[in-house]
Formats: sequence, structure tokens, C-alpha cells
Amino acid sequence: MTSTLPPHLGASALDRALAAFVGELGPESVVSEPEELRAYRDPYTYSESDEFDASAVVMPTTTEQVQAVVRIANEHRVPLWMFSQGRNNTYGGSAPRLRGSVLVNLRRMNRILEIDRDLAYAVVEPGVRWFDLFDGLQEAGGDLWPSIPDLGWGSVVGNSLEYGIGYTPYGDHARNICGMEVVLPDGSLLRTGMGAMEGNAAFHTYPHSYGPSFGGLFQQSNLGIVTSVGWWVMRRPEAYSACWARFRGYDTLGEVVDVLRRLMLDRVIENTPLLNRGVEIDADGNFSLDPDGEGWSARFALYGRAGLVDAQFAVVEQALRAAPGVEVVRRTFDTADLTGPANHDERVQRGIPDMDLLDPRMLPYGEVTGHLDFSPIGPCRGADVVRLEKLVRATYARHGRQYVNGLYLTPRSALHISTTFYDPRDEEQTRGVFEGYADLVREVATLGYAPYRTNLQHMDLVAEQFGFADHAQRRVAERIKDALDPNGVLAPGKSGIWPAAYRR
Ligand code: ADP
Repeated sequence: MTSTLPPHLGASALDRALAAFVGELGPESVVSEPEELRAYRDPYTYSESDEFDASAVVMPTTTEQVQAVVRIANEHRVPLWMFSQGRNNTYGGSAPRLRGSVLVNLRRMNRILEIDRDLAYAVVEPGVRWFDLFDGLQEAGGDLWPSIPDLGWGSVVGNSLEYGIGYTPYGDHARNICGMEVVLPDGSLLRTGMGAMEGNAAFHTYPHSYGPSFGGLFQQSNLGIVTSVGWWVMRRPEAYSACWARFRGYDTLGEVVDVLRRLMLDRVIENTPLLNRGVEIDADGNFSLDPDGEGWSARFALYGRAGLVDAQFAVVEQALRAAPGVEVVRRTFDTADLTGPANHDERVQRGIPDMDLLDPRMLPYGEVTGHLDFSPIGPCRGADVVRLEKLVRATYARHGRQYVNGLYLTPRSALHISTTFYDPRDEEQTRGVFEGYADLVREVATLGYAPYRTNLQHMDLVAEQFGFADHAQRRVAERIKDALDPNGVLAPGKSGIWPAAYRR
């Protein structure tokens, strides 16, 4: 039996709760053996640390079972931590913010409930992975493409609730959500948007509500367990071109960002351009890491009627070549042919999931390699992007750390993700990396930037940065939390929101 307990709860109280979970879900759906719990650790914390260990895992298969789990948690005052696939390792994987929480593992709720080919949406449960959604859309005829992130093993729901991004014109995944079903912290059920009306026909086609829209309350939050979402996808275009530009140096980086912004605002480029430094991919799709490299590559894609894609490429090429030393190339594909796209860049922008990016991330220290992503968000203007990049670089240098860059552009904002690699078996090195991260948070705040998402270790620190009007954001979040979750059972500490019982 588990040796990890949540705060405020004795071993016998936890045992009674676990017995109640078993009574509701059956013994095969409740795990509390320490050996089995190891698979749910945050793999990137120091490997001997028990700071984010769970006490048990429950695996519901239906919305009713999720409701029962939440009711039992309230009865026994057991903190829960929910995840859909729990594969986002740099942000904690499936591990809970609060040590001793019981994990609600939703991987078994993995059904695609509906695919509407006319209206281009799917309705999915939380355990549906990118691989599953892709397969489901293929089986339904292949005329719908999902936007996907770089690794196919994560879930549509978990990624979208965390504001994840992908690389088709539907790359802002949070915006693809249209109509959710949510189990509230008291175990009752809510449907958002038009779904608030029994049998409403526009549940997954119109994103707003009559009155205030509550969907956003359940994103990056601890106010509910989402049990299904409507999710918009893209109609297969006639033509698709994967495009790349290469260049060197900060001056050109600023110019390229400005050119890409204008092309995005003009809707010539409609997907999410990604600019990389320190990550090389050759023509055969082989990756290598070169953290000291100064060369940048930009990848983006064009979609639409064949003639229009050619015309758009001519515009893009001319605009980018105006910046010094920029080369632009593309490959165009028959969109009905799944085998055409040969490497990760070509597949991911066409919505074909793979796991290619996992291996290069294990190059530095083998399979155990940890990496910490620092992901502040700022405006998409060349001068701003370069200013932030220089500050980030100076901060890593002060900590003696190498890193690689990914810059994810939208027409108005730029997400700067820098990644540093380390060995989580080395306590001192791991501590140094996390201290460096905290330093980065404080440094970029001086320019008016904050991360859009963070790891378990820094949720409080990042929440601390959002201090406008004496932390109005946090105070409002706490009032809503206490009203909906008076026993504080759902994901205490998520995004720096602590229920009353755990507030210092
Ligand atoms: P992924 O499937 O991409 O690995 P996760 O399952 O790890 O994503 O989810 C990321 C985070 O999103 C979780 O830590 C949790 O806070 C939140 N989350 C995931 N699934 C749900 C859900 N069904 N309801 C509410 N919050 C969720």
C-alpha cells in the first residue's frame, strides 16, 4: 500500500477513501502500490525526490464514474489531480502539484464520440490521443485534418485545455474547443456554451454562450474535470506546401519576424511558423542538437487551391528574400497521399502525428535526459523578439547553461520556448536548472513578459508575476475556487490557485 499521504489526511482515512474508490470502480481501476506509482512520477524532477509523488491512481471509464470519484473525494477530503494522457513531461507529466494527491487518470476514456464531416468537428473524450484522432478522421474518409502538436502521444483535451499549439491554420488549440462537458468539484455536471440547453443543435458549432461563457474557467485551472469536448478540424485542402527559410544572426531574425508577421496579418500564411535555433533537421529527417549554433531555420506551410498556393508562395518568397541572406524552399504534396510527407516538418504541418522529436531530446544524457522549457509570451515584433532573446541568452549564460530555441509565431504574439537539457539523477545540476528557470522568470518580468504555462515547481512563482491591482486575478480565482470547491478537492495549487484549506 502507498506510503505517500496528502497533507491533513491520516493513513486510515486515505485507506477508507481508496476502499470507496474500489467499491465504485472495481479493484483493477485503483492503483496504490509504490512500484506501480513510479510510472506516474514527474520524470524531470530530481530522480530521488518525492516532492510530487501521488498516493494512488484511479482510472474511471465514464463520466458517471468521474462524478463518483469526485463525490468520494469530497466525502473523505482527498485531493485529486486529473490528467488526460499526462505526457507533457516538461510541465510535470502526470504528477500532481500537491504531494499525496490521488491521480484521476483519464486515459481509459478514449472514445471519439462523434465526427461531423459537414461541419468539420469531432467530439472527443479526454483519453483520445493525437494518434487516435488522426486515425478516426482517416477512417471517416480522410477529408478532415487535425491540427497536432509535435508529439502524437498526448491528448487533444489535455493539450487544448493548456493552450497548446499545433501547426495547421487551426493551430490555436484552445480556440478549437467548442462546447465541453465538465464534472464540477461537487460531482455535478455542466455543459458549456449552447450545450447548457438540453439537446441544443449548435453545441459544437457555435462557441459562445447565452450570457457569460464559462468555457475558459476550465482551462489551465482546477475548477472541473472535462469529460468531453467538441473540437474543430480543417477540411483537406487541394494543395499543401511545406516551406522553410534559413538565416543567421539577430538582425535577420528581427527582419524575418516582421516579414512573417505582415504575411500572417494579411492571411497569406495562416499556420503557425516555427523558428528554431540549435536544432538541425537534415533532408532525410534526421535531427541533431547544436546548442551553440547561430543558424536559424523557419518552417511554415501554405494551404488552399493549387493555383492560390503557388501565388502565395511567390509572395512569401519575395518578401522573405528581401531580408539579407535568407533562403526559401518548399515541397508541395498531393493532399490525398498520406505517404508523401517524408519528414517530421512535412507531417506535422499536415496533421500526421509521429514521435520523431522524442529521440533527439534524449541525446544529451540518454533515456533519462530531462529538459526544462521556459516559455514566455510576447508581441510578434522583430525588435521585441530580439530584445527578449538577448535577455534570455544573457541569463542562461550567467548560469553557465546551453539551450536551444523555438519561436512560435501568431499574427500578434510570439511564444519564445527555450529548452535546456540536464541529468535528473544529478541533484546539484537539477537544482541549478530550476534556480536558473526562476531567475529567467524574474528577469523577463522586468521587460513585461511572463510564461504562458509552467512546470509544477514554478506555478506559484509564475502566478506571482500577475500582480496587477494587488493580485486581482488570483483573488478572483480563489473566490471562484472556494465557491465551487469548498473542500478544496480538485487539483490544489494548479496554476498557483490554492483552495482555502491549503492557503498559507
Ligand atoms: P497531455 O495529454 O497533452 O499529456 P495532460 O493530460 O498532461 O496533457 O494535461 C495537461 C494538464 O491539463 C493536466 O496537468 C491538468 O492540469 C489539465 N487537464 C488535463 N486533462 C484535463 C481534464 N480532462 N479536465 C481538466 N483538466 C485537465
